Amino acid sequence: MKALKFAVLAGDGIGPEVMEVTLEILEQVLGKAGYAMDAEAAPVGGAAIDQVGKALPEATIRVCEAADAILFGSVGGPKWESLPPAEQPERASLLPLRKHFQLFANIRPGLLYPELVAASPLKTERIPEGIDMVCIRELTGGIYFGQPKERRELPDGDVEALDTMVYKKSEIERIAEVAAQTALVRGKRVCSVDKANVLTTSVLWREVVTAFFKEKYPQIGLSHMYVDNAAMQLARNPNQFDVLLTENMFGDILSDEMGIVCGSLGMLCSASLGLGNNSLGNPFGLYEPAGGTAPDIAGQGIANPCAQILSAAMMLRFSFGLDDLATRIEAAVRETVQSGVRTGDIAFGLEPVNTRAMADAIINRLKSKG
Ligand code: NAD
Repeated sequence: MKALKFAVLAGDGIGPEVMEVTLEILEQVLGKAGYAMDAEAAPVGGAAIDQVGKALPEATIRVCEAADAILFGSVGGPKWESLPPAEQPERASLLPLRKHFQLFANIRPGLLYPELVAASPLKTERIPEGIDMVCIRELTGGIYFGQPKERRELPDGDVEALDTMVYKKSEIERIAEVAAQTALVRGKRVCSVDKANVLTTSVLWREVVTAFFKEKYPQIGLSHMYVDNAAMQLARNPNQFDVLLTENMFGDILSDEMGIVCGSLGMLCSASLGLGNNSLGNPFGLYEPAGGTAPDIAGQGIANPCAQILSAAMMLRFSFGLDDLATRIEAAVRETVQSGVRTGDIAFGLEPVNTRAMADAIINRLKSKG
């Protein structure tokens, strides 16, 4: 029996709660398809600080290095907020993980089922069929990583700080490739977002993206939009977008806005793909829910497990090449939500169920399918 080897970094708050049921679902789907699961757990975030004094222990990095993918929960919470910023769980674990594994491509589906349109702050008549789009964000370049990045005192006693926004042609082309591959299996439309009317990096971005699609993917409809307009258009009519392609900081902001218009964080998954391939020749990736550790509901067993489960489905698709199993999980989640079995964040007048019951309903659907 072939075993799928991945690292499990559940983290803090609701992370371990939704991870536990997600692993059961994976076991069910994989077992039925003749695969074994070689999932190695390792501490990360606040849990790792409590255990070994560091948010991303060396041993955890080694577990991830030995794996073909990382299934990540979420990290952080009030308990660790008084630590110096550089030692706090999110900054001291997620950012170094992205850097260590060169996770340059963040893929965030913005999916809102028609039966959950009430979860969106948008008027339902604007999104009668729900929302279905994807944001592709460059994750390891731009102003978050550019050098110099410093704060300095000036001779006249004033203080200044600077960040550097920098992009290479090769960095733009490799994220454009991810957007193209995503668009090819969707609506074949890419909207590239920049600020080419002001920023030199954006002028290069637009030039490179235009030439790339013209040469390699002429069958994909490419459009360009300034980031300020994109922020408005997302709130006005998100379904005008199929695939949004953008750089690091714009993507940080736009993907969160997309998350809000898509309703509950409990439904939103993501993948961050690395430069290198794993031992199977597929992209190495880190897969995690869009939301955080939800301290307000942690420990109560009522978190929505769907974002974590859908993140695991993305892992099967991208890092293990098991598209059919990923689709099976996605269908079971969707049918469960449609059937009215829902946690509190998406219940809208229905009797809410807890994490366990929602996961059981998904497992039962998976069991009942051939
Ligand atoms: P949050 O995303 O944890 O929660 C925002 C709201 O969404 C809360 O009301 C929460 O209950 C709800 N929510 C989120 N996920 C849910 C789920 N699965 N089911 C039901 N409801 C859900 O955001 P926050 O309050 O800004 O952050 C809390 C902590 O999480 C902070 O310490 C922050 O640093 C951390 N955080 C971590 C990550 C990560 O690990 N990638 C991401 C964001 C925030």
